[in-house]
Amino acid sequence: MKELREKINILDKQIIGLLAERRKLSRQVIELKDEKKAPIRDKEREKEILQSVLKTAKDYGLDSHYVTKLFNTIIEDSVRLQQNQVLKTTNFENTASIKIAIQGIEGSYSYLSAKQYFNDYGDLEFVKKKTFEEVVKSVENEEADFAVLPIENTTSGSINEAYDALMDSSLFVVGEEIYQVKHCLVSKNEIPLSKIQKIYAHPQAAVQCSKFLSKLTDIEVEYFADTAMSVQKISESESSDTAAIGSEEAARIFNVTVLREEIANQSGNYTRFLICSKRPIEVDLRIPSKTSLVFATAHSAGSLVDALLIFQKYKINMTKLQSRPIIGNPWEEMFYLDFQGNTADSNVKSLLEEFGKHTRFFRVLGCFASKEIEVAKIDVKDIEDLPTPTINITSELPKVKTESKSASVSYKLASRNYKVEDTVIKVGDVLIGGNNFIVMAGPCSVESKEMILECAKEVRDNHAQILRGGCFKPRTSPYSFQGMGFEGLEYLKLAGESYELPIITEVLSTEQVDEVARYSDILQIGARNMQNFPLLTAVGKINKPVMLKRSMMASLDELLNSAEYILAQGNRQVILCERGIRTFETATRNTLDLSSVLVLKELTHLPVVVDPSHAVGQRDKVIPLAKAAKVVGAHGIMVEFHPEPEKALSDGPQALYFNQFRELMKNINRL
Ligand code: PEP
Ligand code: MN
Repeated sequence: MKELREKINILDKQIIGLLAERRKLSRQVIELKDEKKAPIRDKEREKEILQSVLKTAKDYGLDSHYVTKLFNTIIEDSVRLQQNQVLKTTNFENTASIKIAIQGIEGSYSYLSAKQYFNDYGDLEFVKKKTFEEVVKSVENEEADFAVLPIENTTSGSINEAYDALMDSSLFVVGEEIYQVKHCLVSKNEIPLSKIQKIYAHPQAAVQCSKFLSKLTDIEVEYFADTAMSVQKISESESSDTAAIGSEEAARIFNVTVLREEIANQSGNYTRFLICSKRPIEVDLRIPSKTSLVFATAHSAGSLVDALLIFQKYKINMTKLQSRPIIGNPWEEMFYLDFQGNTADSNVKSLLEEFGKHTRFFRVLGCFASKEIEVAKIDVKDIEDLPTPTINITSELPKVKTESKSASVSYKLASRNYKVEDTVIKVGDVLIGGNNFIVMAGPCSVESKEMILECAKEVRDNHAQILRGGCFKPRTSPYSFQGMGFEGLEYLKLAGESYELPIITEVLSTEQVDEVARYSDILQIGARNMQNFPLLTAVGKINKPVMLKRSMMASLDELLNSAEYILAQGNRQVILCERGIRTFETATRNTLDLSSVLVLKELTHLPVVVDPSHAVGQRDKVIPLAKAAKVVGAHGIMVEFHPEPEKALSDGPQALYFNQFRELMKNINRL
């Protein structure tokens, strides 16, 4: 063991050395690019790198998803390094030592995000303040060079005090940083959870970990102004029944023990910070950037809309709009607005000039490099040499009929007459509807963690877009396997996250809707529940796409009325699914009604997908029907597969073998 570990350690050191070497080369590349004023990013070159490393990875038998993830990170780092270098040379000549003002102490999230942002700069000195106003003041009076202000959090929303401090200041925004907040439970020494009587926490942190805290009985929470302070207090206290909520980094800084990692209610918890300074910066036009404004419009009807329409006119995308009350002017608001664009760009200059005319207060807070870096994606076709499509059936939309019968339909929001354009639903990077064709695939039921991870890899490796898996199963017999419930849902979510796939799962009852919606990207209403009106009403109230399956006993008119139940509650993201109906024919499980696709596309703007697996019930007939679905113009298919169909706990006979699924994916991409 010792020998092997030593060998691994040596390899790891070499990997780090190579990464450092690679960064050095990146720096030289940007110098050359700068001389020639060439673009910083070369997406073709990035694609070439990915293609070539994937090829090498294949030769070594390494997983392609793993290698893609790794190299996306490496390329992202390289792009950021080059962008920072350009920013530094134009704006910050003397960065050998810089002073950064933060609210809080060492180990606070402001501190950690500042270290992340200024990673490529020289020595950092921190000016620690108690309030956001003091932070801002210290930059105004040149005690510090930069202020780092937390401005919004993905779980708890805008941080108003930070906005207000910025509004009252004369500072400019010169950068942004996004930091992933991972709350841990820490204590001075290892103690069992049952011994804990008191918890030190920042109020926001306590809210974000409320579920975990509610599981601890009889505890008292004492509040602190920042998370690091609560951790510091733990390190100084003598009591053995006290814990704090803080980051792993803070635990390291104050040398305390991490009892539990990631105790927040939600796993994707990010805070966005603004980097501010006394002078605005210039952002090279080659760097994707954002601009921040603060403004107020006239207190009259339509004045805000008039101002915002200017963005439409100049085709500039807004990324944030936030209002704050104006102190002393009741019911009047000041707005913060971020958009994608550079103040040095002539289109943006014209926009700002025109926008200003619609305001009664207007200040450009600054232009800065966007934190998000878009990674170059490689297409399936680039790696697998698939032939280019010869016919594009899905783009031929059926003609929309606007006959007088429309007046009598009992559904309105679902109809083409209400909305002529196709509804396109965006789930992560996946588009459903319009001219897109997607594949949702996975097992009928999630049966174990390992099994769903294996299935997710299969979905990813074959370039299907969405992972399915049932956790709550509507079974004909009460003695059949009923699904793994929330435990299965945990595994499904893990599998989706591990392979960067959105997930879909069925929700069976109204009580489960909110909880399932927290995990799943799309909620499925099964055929047996198509007319469960309370359930339709419940999913109509959430802000997640819903896939509504046609009941085996329902007409298309009934299906559309059921969709109307969801739409009428506010949820406009509904996908319809044809999954076979009951006819007098008993040779197949159900009868796949492919003509429904054509009819539905005429009657409704909603996306229509086809599930051949439940329709036909026999695996050897799934592939031809899936292809047929694409040919008639469905927006996608849902198919079931299983690592070992003979052992499946549900719907084994219709589950494809992995090699059949691979065959299907190759064939369907060729269509
Ligand atoms: C399913 O997709 O898992 C399912 C149960 O399908 P249906 O509701 O169409 O029977
Ligand atoms: Mn099934």
